[in-house]
Amino acid sequence: MEMTQIAYEDPKFERSREIIREALDTYSGKIAVACSFGKDSMVVVHLARQVDPDVPVFSVMTRYKPRETFEYLVEMNRLLNLNVRVYMVGREAPEMLRRENIDVVLLSPERFEREAAEIEKNTGMKIYHVDPDLCCNLLKVEPTREAVKDLDAWITGLRNTEGRTRKDYQEVERRGDIMKINPILRWTEADVWRYMAIHNIPVHPWYVRGYRSLGCEPCTAMGGEEERDGRWMGTPKQGGECGIHTVPLKVGEGSVRLRK
Ligand code: SF4
Repeated sequence: MEMTQIAYEDPKFERSREIIREALDTYSGKIAVACSFGKDSMVVVHLARQVDPDVPVFSVMTRYKPRETFEYLVEMNRLLNLNVRVYMVGREAPEMLRRENIDVVLLSPERFEREAAEIEKNTGMKIYHVDPDLCCNLLKVEPTREAVKDLDAWITGLRNTEGRTRKDYQEVERRGDIMKINPILRWTEADVWRYMAIHNIPVHPWYVRGYRSLGCEPCTAMGGEEERDGRWMGTPKQGGECGIHTVPLKVGEGSVRLRK
């Protein structure tokens, strides 16, 4: 007798689709999914595309992301037909993205290069070691601001159990003049891997090597207790945030623009 294997569908998965469905209905045409091409982003993008195969996807990349992240971006963009729009600070798009005709929005690198050069001249060290908050602000927060400036809402892969800085978020929350939708907020790391396996989503090679949370190359390490402990490891920012989830990206009445 032929056996049909039915993959286990956790009720959590459908609940996340429901959150996305409601958000897409509410903010139709003014909403997009953010994708860093880490495991959580891949799950959210996959869920969102089950709800609406044409949902816009954007990604903020930096010059310091590992080569494998750019390769994975290209691979996933092709495989899932994401039509991703990439935002990054720089003078020209990385060759790998140009070859694939990926839509890249470039932001002026002048301020970043000026600050980085000044720090290096004064300390002999790189900006990401001396002032990672400034580096993240210029390379990640500002491009994210640009990416969401015309949106009413964005969808993220943020999860409560990732680390100390992510415990107090809500599934749907207002941040300044934009709504943030966190549909997998209550998922565990194991839920994410289970979903990836059930849906045959290829895995970024750095996870296979043992990394649990991926960021820019100089600021990502293995180890620590919590999932995000490898981020900015050994610095006061360890396990912390780049700022895109903590700084209001669109400032409205009654909200305060924080400087990290
Ligand atoms: S993660 Fe590191 S290299 Fe990347 S933007 Fe932040 S400080 Fe700079």
